[in-house]
Amino acid sequence: MRSRNGSVENRRPAVYPGSFDPVTNGHLDIIVRAARCFPRLIVAVVDNPNKRPMFSLDRRVELLREVCSAVANVEVARFEGLLVDFVRGVGAQVIVKGLRIVSDFEHEYSMAVLNRKLRGNPDTIFVPASIEYAYVSSSSVKEVFSLGGDISDFVPPVVLRAMNATRPAKAKQKIKERKLS
Ligand code: ADP
Repeated sequence: MRSRNGSVENRRPAVYPGSFDPVTNGHLDIIVRAARCFPRLIVAVVDNPNKRPMFSLDRRVELLREVCSAVANVEVARFEGLLVDFVRGVGAQVIVKGLRIVSDFEHEYSMAVLNRKLRGNPDTIFVPASIEYAYVSSSSVKEVFSLGGDISDFVPPVVLRAMNATRPAKAKQKIKERKLS
């Protein structure tokens, strides 16, 4: 679907929202696959002041920009407040959601129905999680990481480095010793 002047900026985008605290390989898989289906994909990072994230909003956006840099039609933006307002503001009509194991479905389905009742009536397209990431979530990755487990299969290298950088030197030493023993 080309706009009158054919520029990428003017093509109707789809929006992939989330906290991305931090972005995982599961998110990245959805981004790459969704970017094949839409002329433009805006990854929208929510600013939720009620949550205490591991990474600031700026850092989450920065990490996403780094890991998405190779995908030409992907942009990263931030939003606060209602998702439907952001979606309408960027001229989108479609929200992309990743669907993991069955437990995601109930919540995501009710959000999709609710969003359709709100301003702009955006529709939600579900992309099934790839089997290798079906159990990967930002929160499980953070939990395993905090206990010193190996998460290198689940997050991009730049995210792993950023997570390691948040660790106090003492904890790093302890994990090193545990690996050597
Ligand atoms: P989470 O903490 O669950 O990873 P996010 O809010 O960052 O939460 O998730 C944003 C979107 O990405 C949601 O639609 C979620 O279902 C989807 N998602 C998260 N992890 C995966 C994964 N491993 N595979 C597919 N989709 C995923």
